[in-house]
Amino acid sequence: MVRVRFAPSPTGLLHIGNARMAVFNWLFAKRYKGTFILRIEDTDAVRSEKKFIDQLINDLHWLGLTWQEGPDVGGQYGPYLQSERLHIYHDICQRFLKEGLAYRCYCTSEKLEERRQIARLTGKPPRYDNRCRDLTDKQKKEFESTGLKFTIRFKVPEELLVFDDLVRGSCQFDMSLIGDFVIMRSDGTPSFHFAVAVDDTMMQITHVIRGEDHLSNTPCHILLFHALHQKPPQFAHLSLTMGADRALLSKRHGAFSISEYRKLGYLPEVLLNYMVLLGWAPRDKKEKFMVDDIVGTFEISDMSKASSVFDQQKLDWLGGQYIREADLERLTNLAIPYLQNAGFISTDENKIDRTKLRLTVDAVRNNISCMSQFVQEADIFFKDTIVSEIHVEFLSSEISQAVLLSFSRELHKMNPLSPEILKGVLTAVQKETGINGKGLYMPIRIALTGREHGPTLYDIINILGINTCKKRTERFLLVKK
Ligand code: GLU
Repeated sequence: MVRVRFAPSPTGLLHIGNARMAVFNWLFAKRYKGTFILRIEDTDAVRSEKKFIDQLINDLHWLGLTWQEGPDVGGQYGPYLQSERLHIYHDICQRFLKEGLAYRCYCTSEKLEERRQIARLTGKPPRYDNRCRDLTDKQKKEFESTGLKFTIRFKVPEELLVFDDLVRGSCQFDMSLIGDFVIMRSDGTPSFHFAVAVDDTMMQITHVIRGEDHLSNTPCHILLFHALHQKPPQFAHLSLTMGADRALLSKRHGAFSISEYRKLGYLPEVLLNYMVLLGWAPRDKKEKFMVDDIVGTFEISDMSKASSVFDQQKLDWLGGQYIREADLERLTNLAIPYLQNAGFISTDENKIDRTKLRLTVDAVRNNISCMSQFVQEADIFFKDTIVSEIHVEFLSSEISQAVLLSFSRELHKMNPLSPEILKGVLTAVQKETGINGKGLYMPIRIALTGREHGPTLYDIINILGINTCKKRTERFLLVKK
């Protein structure tokens, strides 16, 4: 039975790089009908915040991820917040001390730093020199009588540690380069290594899927699994994602947080699809897919060893594809808060003209990647347009004037409107003025919207209504009819 976990530290907003690890764990669990667990690694009391836990749970749910065990849903291996498991780490640490697997270290952080500096200067590896490993009882008593605080360190055997990683293949680490590491800090909190290994053991994790930034931690974890009499899980270290600046995506790249994309109105299935593409591709190379459709073909060993680069343009392309195909009613509902915020429509749902809104969303959906862009694209339907000086000059030209004059005359005739009638009107303007193509459409488009691009002329006229179109056209006529 596959059991995997996503184990974020709640010290900031969930960003694409992190969420991607959650997605691949979830996908892997789905693939093998296993259990996906959410575990919160919040032993760093200073940097961890409850609001980040709430937000990350919310963001993961929004993406469509569900877990069978976690702080919000419980489970038989809980608690799932590390801060609630401190007694477990303490008990195991005591056992390690008794079994001679660990020992008290009285070196202060200042002393350790000093020794690291010296090691650096003399070209030696800056590892801990294990000096407290073999203290006599007398020495221990002396240290303790001075009130010195101690950490607890795990004894690292000098051996070559080899393990197979599902993505990176065989990995080797010379443990003689790693000093005895801390498992319990002097303030009584467990170190990252210790808490992870204890929890992965007790939660019966079968596969650890995480970023390759943790690869060098894995040998320490394997030693701890052995000490816990637990067969280590299988490891899959996934390559990381970089921003366009080639720096690793991190919480510092605020704009890459899931909640930011959510605020911008990207559809959750777009982000999910996009994150799966970071480091993996279906065999048929199709880039747009519903995650449920690729579950059966997902192999963790197919994950790329090279790091992926976050590509905003590709995300936008994908966003546009999904918006084009999304259910119109759903998009209309999603558009409402953005339009309300912009002050374009009433905050009273009952006063909203849903028919107009639906038409507007449908007219504009081809030009947007996320719902916040809807406001800029659709403002022409909700407020007066601003026409730039260059466009006013363009509309004053002889050709534009001829088109606008003829068009405004025809507008009076075209009620009701249909695509056929509009076509007839444009043909009539074309016949009367002898102007066609861009010369014909552009003055009309700019007069009505103040822009060179946008929805089709039919949609624009249909949504604005004949009277508004007349008004918008006639304000540019230099010679009134
Ligand atoms: N808490 C660690 C992190 O946020 C994850 C540790 C792990 O997956 O083993 O990077």
